[in-house]
Amino acid sequence: MSDFIDSLISRMTLAEKVGQLNYLSSAGEDTTGAGDAASDIEGRIRRGEVGSLPAGVDLATLTRWQKVAVEESAQKIPLIFTLDVIHGHRTIFPLPLALACTWEPSLIRRTARVAATEAAAAGIAVAWAPMLDVSRDARWGRCAESPGEDPVLGATFGVAMVEGYQQDDLSRHDTVMATAKHFAGYGFAEGGRDYNTADISPFRMHNVVLPPFKAAIDAGAGAVMVGFHDLAGIPCTAHRELLRDLLRRRWGFDGLVVSDYTAILELINHGVAADLKEAAYLAFTAGIDIDMMSGAFSRHLPELVAEGRIRETDIDAGCRRVLSAKQQLGLFENPYGRMDEQRRQAVTLTPGNRRLAREAAAKSCVLLKNNGALPLARKGVIALVGPLADSRANMQGTWAVAAQPQDSVTVLEGMRSAAGERARILYAKGANITDNTNIAARLNVFGETFAIDPRSPDTMIEEAVALAAQADIVVACVGEAKEHSGESSTRTELELSGGQRRLLRVLRQTDKPLVLVTMSGRPLALEWEDRHADAILHAWFGGSEAGNAIADVLFGDVNPSGKLSMSFPRTSGQCPIHYAEAPTGRPIDKIGIDVAGDEQVDAEGRHVFRKFTTACRVEGPHNALYPFGHGTGYSAFEYGPLSLSKIMLRGESDRLGATIAVRNVGKVAGEEIVQLYIGDPVASRSRPVRELKGFQKILLEPGEERQVVFQITVSDLRFFRSERIAEADHIWEPGTFRIEVGPSSRILTTALIEWQADS
Ligand code: BGC
Repeated sequence: MSDFIDSLISRMTLAEKVGQLNYLSSAGEDTTGAGDAASDIEGRIRRGEVGSLPAGVDLATLTRWQKVAVEESAQKIPLIFTLDVIHGHRTIFPLPLALACTWEPSLIRRTARVAATEAAAAGIAVAWAPMLDVSRDARWGRCAESPGEDPVLGATFGVAMVEGYQQDDLSRHDTVMATAKHFAGYGFAEGGRDYNTADISPFRMHNVVLPPFKAAIDAGAGAVMVGFHDLAGIPCTAHRELLRDLLRRRWGFDGLVVSDYTAILELINHGVAADLKEAAYLAFTAGIDIDMMSGAFSRHLPELVAEGRIRETDIDAGCRRVLSAKQQLGLFENPYGRMDEQRRQAVTLTPGNRRLAREAAAKSCVLLKNNGALPLARKGVIALVGPLADSRANMQGTWAVAAQPQDSVTVLEGMRSAAGERARILYAKGANITDNTNIAARLNVFGETFAIDPRSPDTMIEEAVALAAQADIVVACVGEAKEHSGESSTRTELELSGGQRRLLRVLRQTDKPLVLVTMSGRPLALEWEDRHADAILHAWFGGSEAGNAIADVLFGDVNPSGKLSMSFPRTSGQCPIHYAEAPTGRPIDKIGIDVAGDEQVDAEGRHVFRKFTTACRVEGPHNALYPFGHGTGYSAFEYGPLSLSKIMLRGESDRLGATIAVRNVGKVAGEEIVQLYIGDPVASRSRPVRELKGFQKILLEPGEERQVVFQITVSDLRFFRSERIAEADHIWEPGTFRIEVGPSSRILTTALIEWQADS
């Protein structure tokens, strides 16, 4: 079939080849050319000026455009339609950050499968997902789209998403091509400020940032989208070493490399190109195949070829990659395979899809603390309060592009339907998420998700307190609005916004048990809540079935099993904070600071961090409030001692088994996520105190015990010592390693092993 593509390319004009590299808006425009004749979309397709478009319009329109492409253009090349299918298409699953808390690749794969089926039936051939940016700064709004702070969990998530989207055979009409994005290091934007510089060492790139991308590419991801940001002065869009030397040459990636939206034009703002022509030159020669929305390639590549600065054979290579993606997607054989209105209706928002959304949302919930207030009994009166208790549109979270607000179930509906006649659920809003009209307008930018209640804060709180007085227990649904997190949504304060904290303070004074259901697209700073609430269930944004899933967990029909994919700070000022920090020269346990005896609480009852400059080696208020891997449930698990099959590894292919007994000493069956970490105390580089290397999710009946075995190979002990981005050799350094197994990154049982180089 490559003969077919070669022969096609040999018949194409330079302009037609460049056309394949051009991605326009669904109005047929690019940002640079808005206002000129460019909005003649059908004319542009007919003239072969466009290779791909967003699928943000109805299926009939997409079908018409495809017809123009394959019947009226000179080369009859089909179009690719794309969309951001981030966590579901019409059926919305939990945010990626939430889904990663399931630590369950098969479940993640099933959600991606459903998303692909729905998206593909709506004409979409390429999904701009999965987003695989390791995110360690909760201020950065896009952590919502990411699998969190850890490269191993991120890689697992990425592979599951790619497999679910692509199904090993992209020519099937129920698949979509996966795009690993944003290559690379976008999650490390300074201060969590979106689009900002990320000055990342090659050491961190290879050990932390790149592994999820490498794994997704090895799993067959067909496309890579490049980050908006600059890496140590070079915007990724123009980064030859990153794109050409590493991605293409070193990793051998021969799929599509796509710029982010208007990112080529933005090279001018970055200050590395004087004009659009130079920007086109830099981006193309760095390795970008598809220009999303800048109009730079279509305007300037032909001229750059004429001037001899770019070789036409390089344009051919980019064009060949686009055409072979179209071929893999089965578009030449059947350009309309993904355009079937009947199939779209039959596969969209089905009861089965909803069941999966409910399962995924319940399993994404993380029970942050529980003093026994949960699960709720189905009896008496429950006061359900808070601005997110009856908020349909917010349940879906950010980047739910094709979602309809009416598709979601609210917590109030979920609780009422779960309680039936046996318990009465009373509802009051209690507070606004924000009382600031400017912020509200920003949060409602993609359609109204909430309105500021015109009643005074006091009146709203009085109503909630009156409700609490009649109730046996209070459940407060508080947190962010869905667009508080997402693109361009940086926050500097991660505490509850608007009147929510005040509402909780007053409710706490009622002496009724207080259960919080917190929702957000990022870790929040919940130190006050941790001290004052009886239980906190973090539900993120659960998607179409959020309300039912939350009710399932609250009433104990589902035993919560989620574990955090990203650490929750005590206060915003701790960000970025994550479990895999490097040891400092003054680890807190070694210099003997009495953390517990230090004055830690100010007049407001908030922790102050006088000793915060020290490293996070021991339990204490300098560390995260809820660390990576934390999460409790309605069972209780006891861990036995850690035993090793041997303590010495020799050579390069040796392995050993680390075994730990886990027993469910609780009263109900439950799932536990058993985590394996490895530390490398002495190496040629200062290595993280610990790094996740494996995990197993097990289901245990009450009283049941299971021996959980991890096979540790020498490759688990390796790391990258890279001094350049394009230098990617895994280093082998013999010595002593610390093996740690436990229920979170903080509660671990430790054993030491040795590795010797010679066998
Ligand atoms: C985002 C990408 C997204 C693209 C197209 C950009 O603003 O950074 O993640 O895929 O828009 O919607």
